[in-house]
Amino acid sequence: MNRIFADLPTTIFEEMSALARTHDAINLGQGFPDDPGPEDVRQKAAQAVVDGWNQYPPMMGLPELRDAVARHYKAHQGLDIDPASEVMVTSGATEAIAGALLATVTPGDEVVLFEPAYDAYLPLVRRAGGIPRIVRLSPPDWRFDAAALRAAIGPRTRAVLFNNPLNPAGCLYDAGDLAVLAAALDGSEAVVISDEVWEHVVFDGRRHVSVLAVPGLRERSVKIGSAGKIFNLTGWKVGFVVAPPAVMRVLAKAHQFITFTTPPNLQTAVAYGLGKPAAHFEAMRHDLQARRDHLQKGLSAAGFSVLPSAGTYFINVDLAPLGVSDDAAFCRRMVAQAGVAAIPVSAFYSQDHQRSVVRFCFAKKYETLDAAIERVSGAVARLARA
Ligand code: GLN
Repeated sequence: MNRIFADLPTTIFEEMSALARTHDAINLGQGFPDDPGPEDVRQKAAQAVVDGWNQYPPMMGLPELRDAVARHYKAHQGLDIDPASEVMVTSGATEAIAGALLATVTPGDEVVLFEPAYDAYLPLVRRAGGIPRIVRLSPPDWRFDAAALRAAIGPRTRAVLFNNPLNPAGCLYDAGDLAVLAAALDGSEAVVISDEVWEHVVFDGRRHVSVLAVPGLRERSVKIGSAGKIFNLTGWKVGFVVAPPAVMRVLAKAHQFITFTTPPNLQTAVAYGLGKPAAHFEAMRHDLQARRDHLQKGLSAAGFSVLPSAGTYFINVDLAPLGVSDDAAFCRRMVAQAGVAAIPVSAFYSQDHQRSVVRFCFAKKYETLDAAIERVSGAVARLARA
């Protein structure tokens, strides 16, 4: 067996969801909404299953979806993207990330990662033969500084794997941060693989800035998006990649032998959804922001120190003020004794772990959030002591 996968534990999401089932707990761990998602988009998919094409769609994705991706970014971010040479549809963002790493990394190349890193990144980098170079981020603001970034980038850097907004931190990097990244890469041939799946899930009037909008990054970047996060349909696994034509040619070779295509009916529905008016996306953000605020208030009242959340489905608490230095043990006690599952953020570090932060998902019904708040209220001090 290949040691990289053989030695891996089961993902923290699966582990905490299983514990939630065992303890009949409220699951604020794994990030998925508990509402069914936009009905018109789902209707479009259903109609396409019944009336539409159910054989292999083109390898690069349905032309209507590739066009819709380009039009979407023109309308929402003012970007000029050529659908025919710069857009490819993938079976979810994880396939896009795996494909981008396989297409760019040759064994022995270095890949720069930021930790906390979404749990799929490091094993995929290693399996591609990449040598990870980690830039460590810490709460409360999770910023990276230019010196740390420059120290991680060297002549053997082949790729930088970037995530913005950052899951699990819930922070958003702005144009200034992206300029720091561009400057640090000046003179390097590295590709930036930018996981932007949370691009629409940003709060308080903030706007996501894509690497595609930044001079010095546009021509070296692979931007990854996800219908799962754009439409709160996480099970659909429809993603897409935007990259310069020369890079795209190689990405397409990786994709053709990983999944080759993505269900055509879901592609049709996503193409329709991407054309929805700006007000739809605005309303989605407001709805999630209100849930964030609700959980934030409840967790604070229960005695947690809540960290800011600028985007994603997640809000973090810092257990350090409670004297807790083992987030994973805390989460195991919380699911067993209080009946609430969350995710220990130490799971997203491979070294020099941050062990006091716990991630909660607020993309849930208000009743669910209220029930979770009620369960932890009065239990926090006891859970912290145990
Ligand atoms: N993206 C989801 C999260 O961050 C997890 C998806 C999964 O379980 N692999 O919670």
